[in-house]
Amino acid sequence: MKEIEEIKKTGYIKWFSNEKGYGYITDRNNIDLYFGVKDIIGAELPEYGDQVEYNEYLGREDVPAGKDIIIIERKNPTFKKIRCESCQADVKPKPWHFGGTDYTNLKTVYLCPNCGDKLYESGGGFNKLAKILLSIIGIGIFIITFIIV
Ligand SMILES: [Zn+2]
Repeated sequence: MKEIEEIKKTGYIKWFSNEKGYGYITDRNNIDLYFGVKDIIGAELPEYGDQVEYNEYLGREDVPAGKDIIIIERKNPTFKKIRCESCQADVKPKPWHFGGTDYTNLKTVYLCPNCGDKLYESGGGFNKLAKILLSIIGIGIFIITFIIV
């Protein structure tokens, strides 16, 4: 790991995947810098367009990379912090998707990145309807198959 400069630079998040755990920062000269989830300082994860501060270095195969990343400005104002009732910290809800493998009861639960407690959840309503519709279609197919056979 070769350090280029110790002075922090600013750039923008070009892309970041929660699932893959890595992303890219675009710097002032439009050069993309690789970073991993471990290079982010703090519990919050970056999103597209967020302004960040970072240290630049040359990563594997001399690929430009960023580390010690601090989010200095959120692009999306809807990702506002809310107060966690459990730990009294102001946190950005961390989405956690779970549900059945049949995709009919997928739900998103928003967790506190600080203490891990549930803040609120969304989804489920439409998916319940989807489940009912799928059941009706399933029964229909069963009846049709029965009549034909
Ligand atoms: Zn909490």
